[in-house]
Amino acid sequence: MVTGGARGIGEATARLLAERGYRVAVADRDAPRWRAPGIGYFRCDVSKEAQVRACVRRVLARFGRLDALVNNAGIADPANAPLEKLALRDWNRRLGTNLTGVFLMTKHATPHLRRVRGAVVNIASTRALMSEPDTEAYAAAKGGVVALTHALAISLGPRVRVNCISPGWIDTGRHRLKRSDHAQHPVGRVGRVEDVAELVAFLLSDAAGFATGHNYVLDGGITRKMIYT
Ligand code: NDP
Repeated sequence: MVTGGARGIGEATARLLAERGYRVAVADRDAPRWRAPGIGYFRCDVSKEAQVRACVRRVLARFGRLDALVNNAGIADPANAPLEKLALRDWNRRLGTNLTGVFLMTKHATPHLRRVRGAVVNIASTRALMSEPDTEAYAAAKGGVVALTHALAISLGPRVRVNCISPGWIDTGRHRLKRSDHAQHPVGRVGRVEDVAELVAFLLSDAAGFATGHNYVLDGGITRKMIYT
């Protein structure tokens, strides 16, 4: 199951996993505007426990088992408001999807994942580690996802592995990119949705059997670059 799989990183992940032989459940607030063999859609707001519980039930009724959970759904725009103007409602909305959504989905998926020795991959962000101004709610939520990942790995091991990916700038088509956007990255380009999908597929696979509880930064090297002018 890939949450937030209707578009962006989640869509690329759902498509790659389907190509690799998984039957994939996309759980999203919106129906995808595309169809692909091996991928089914399940309407779900991950911040609402009743919807999450029902979604997991429907996925199990349709597919009979749950091997892998990718907690990707998120309000992806990091900018909120200056701290003094950040309303509690907006703070709670971001935390509700970007952090509580990971907790709720994992909670309801866990009995099924345990049965088949499954794996979880959470999508955090390099913003768990560094910030631009006015992004408190997003940064706090993603920092929470990194911490929740190691907590879950310890609670659910050895039957279920839980890892986390922190992508840097990934192009989902939302912005027009300039040459300098690419050039500032040590690898010479902004990230692609497929970059994240490939790492998700690896972390879910048996080849990653020794990996749990960790946060894998996938950012073209930019958080390793000194920025003194
Ligand atoms: P997109 O906005 O392209 O896609 C996110 C998907 O999640 C959308 O379909 C969205 O639906 C859905 N979604 C949002 N809230 C909920 C919810 N409460 N319940 C169910 N589905 C929901 O985002 P990206 O692909 O860019 O980002 C995916 C993940 O990666 C996010 O967690 C984001 O924070 C993280 N990330 C992204 C980076 C980037 O540069 N793109 C960098 C680092 C991390 P709707 O259209 O209704 O909002």
